[in-house]
Amino acid sequence: MYFFHMSYLQESPAVIGSYYDKRIVGCPGGEEEDEHDVVWFWLEKGKPHECPVCSQYFVLEVVGPGGPPDGHGDDDDHH
Ligand SMILES: [Zn+2]
Repeated sequence: MYFFHMSYLQESPAVIGSYYDKRIVGCPGGEEEDEHDVVWFWLEKGKPHECPVCSQYFVLEVVGPGGPPDGHGDDDDHH
């Protein structure tokens, strides 16, 4: 289960589409003077992430089959 506090979100989180339940996202900040060195982080479904540098929020929207991004099937998902 996720504990997902909507009240933490800014009005306009960046919605990142992903085929899987998590993906690596890089935040380069905003435009021009708001840019910063790219910060990379894992963004997971249901877990909004706030960039520690520019406070931009990111949320993951799964647009594909979901599941782990590596797909090696170490879990209980045998065919
Ligand atoms: Zn940032």
